[in-house]
Amino acid sequence: MVTRKSRGEIAKMRRAGRIVAEILALLEEALRPGVTTAHLDALAERHIRASGAVPSFKGYLGGGKYGSGPGAFPASICVSIDDEVVHGIPGERVIREGQIVSVDAGAIVEGWHGDAARTFIVGDAPPEARQLVETTRLAMMAGIGAAVAGNRIGDIGAAVEGVARAGGYGIVRQFVGHGIGTSMHEEPQVPNFRSASKGLQLAPGICLAIEPMFTLGRAETYIKPDGWTVATRDGSLAAHFEHTIAVTEHGPEILTVA
Ligand code: MG
Repeated sequence: MVTRKSRGEIAKMRRAGRIVAEILALLEEALRPGVTTAHLDALAERHIRASGAVPSFKGYLGGGKYGSGPGAFPASICVSIDDEVVHGIPGERVIREGQIVSVDAGAIVEGWHGDAARTFIVGDAPPEARQLVETTRLAMMAGIGAAVAGNRIGDIGAAVEGVARAGGYGIVRQFVGHGIGTSMHEEPQVPNFRSASKGLQLAPGICLAIEPMFTLGRAETYIKPDGWTVATRDGSLAAHFEHTIAVTEHGPEILTVA
């Protein structure tokens, strides 16, 4: 079921979103060759808790469930490097010059979620990597631009796909955007591509995470033996951007901004 959020509920999501945006800004500063991905995770978790929020990802089992055993996501952020698309687990891995590093973060304020991701370029990277990253960001913005009342979910996917096609990039299809609210993942799904069904009509109060994932090569992915990390099958670079937005009477409002 797709729920429409009240102004008060969106205000809480805006607070969660601000914390997520602050994390990404903090990590952009911290991200340099030589730091470990576990260090980035520690900085993020400290900021979330210091802000009185709870990490959305820590202990996540999928399907809106949390736990502490095997299978639960062990960290507060996902860090996905180069050919990794999403859901990379932070650890002792060291960031190196020239990598593209996607960071996905989520925070919960009074039960309401914010979810956002950015792909950062560490130092100098080849032009094709930079272009992939910038195009993925532009596609996210195009998708957000289509998230207006009266449009349909399919209009978002069409806008994102149009940008990918113009750049000749692969669009990851196994993972898509989603509704968001009191759960990180709610209905509806928000594909990053055109589909036969135009989908739900958008109305004020609908909150969505719009998150294109593009690749330099083919779009097929696999999950690494850690059970979480999604990577491209052909080893090509991947980029990921995400914002949480609310559909309002005045157009889309990005909630994950500082
Ligand atoms: Mg998401």
